[in-house]
Amino acid sequence: MGRKKRTVRVAHELPKSRRKSIAKALEEHTSETKEEWDRGSEWKEIRFFRKRVKVGEMRTIMMPITVFHGTRPGPVITIIGGTHGDELTGPSACTNLLSNTFTGLGGALDPQTMAGTVRIVPVLNLPGYRMKSRYFPDGRDLNRAFPGRAKGNTTSRVAVTVNKHLIEGSDVIIDLHSAAQGRSNMPQIRADLTHPESHLLAKAFGIEIVLDSRPPKGSLRRCANGKDIATVTYEGGGANWLDQSAVKVAVHGCLNVLRSLKVIPNNPSRPKFRLKAAGSTWLRAGEGGLLDMFVSPGSLVTRGDIIATISDPGTPGLSVDIVAPEDGLMICTATNPFVAAGMPVGHFLPVTKHMDLLLGQIDDRNCLIVNGSQGQPIWREEDVELVEIEVEGEWSSGSVDAEWNEVNAEESEQEEAES
Ligand SMILES: [Zn+2]
Repeated sequence: MGRKKRTVRVAHELPKSRRKSIAKALEEHTSETKEEWDRGSEWKEIRFFRKRVKVGEMRTIMMPITVFHGTRPGPVITIIGGTHGDELTGPSACTNLLSNTFTGLGGALDPQTMAGTVRIVPVLNLPGYRMKSRYFPDGRDLNRAFPGRAKGNTTSRVAVTVNKHLIEGSDVIIDLHSAAQGRSNMPQIRADLTHPESHLLAKAFGIEIVLDSRPPKGSLRRCANGKDIATVTYEGGGANWLDQSAVKVAVHGCLNVLRSLKVIPNNPSRPKFRLKAAGSTWLRAGEGGLLDMFVSPGSLVTRGDIIATISDPGTPGLSVDIVAPEDGLMICTATNPFVAAGMPVGHFLPVTKHMDLLLGQIDDRNCLIVNGSQGQPIWREEDVELVEIEVEGEWSSGSVDAEWNEVNAEESEQEEAES
């Protein structure tokens, strides 16, 4: 055996085979495969849910959906929040984008200066939102119901409508989410990096953490990718509360995408580095009890750091520490102090390369400052090379979209059985 091997595999790396397929997909992808927007071609009013939206007009239609129809030809971009009714990052980011700051005189979202069409849906699952619930009133997860069935259950029928009116007809979709109840995510983008258009979209969003993930079965992203529509999922904050910095990053990212696609004027902002990651390492509770977390989403940790302590009121005086297995980044942490043995308390990305870049961009709480989180101005430095970090090493399986705990896993199994 020789030298003792590290106990934890570097799990966030893009495995060799995956890196190869990403490189191949990007190589094969040329701009010729998708027509350039002919800015000189004919451009006319559109109809959406039987409502007319004229050229250069902004109009809010039932649901509500706000449509900006620019004065020049261009792509159709759909920004969606609240697919899960209790995840408020998306609804808040969309509401911000629709505020006077952006839609008022001289604002970034002026249909008169816009190309293409932008559709903003602050809350896709409005019944769930009103019930403060992730699910539809029939207890099902809309983001596992796509493409849906016209004669299926309620959620499945809604999926059919969403598919027909919002997914189809989009060139680009940004789906805004936050962590489910009991945990919180640092701002991150999830995309299938072997889908070239989605890969480029993930970059255009302009933030540091990009997770390569094949979308879960029945998700909106999977459905859209199946139609070759560029789609990313943004994750930031947690359910039932508002993480204002995650909202800021979402707004910043959406504007970056619109700028990158030349839908609105001005240059997009870029992060100083980008961490492309796949897979995950879940840090789990060894014992049940009360959890005391010492880190937050975005915390940088060093191997051996205590990230949490679990104590059991039933056996006072005894406590168990959970330590960082490597140097790295906490991309998600538990917010619910009740834990059972085996429950994840954190989602961890080992970083074995370029840790200095990350350390050069932390706040006084030792958390990574994400591009846009502090309302950073739009900037672009053409000459500065953006570092793409793809650490080499061993790959251990595990999806970034893996379910957090057993309860959810059971639910998704049931749903799969039904479909
Ligand atoms: Zn969600």
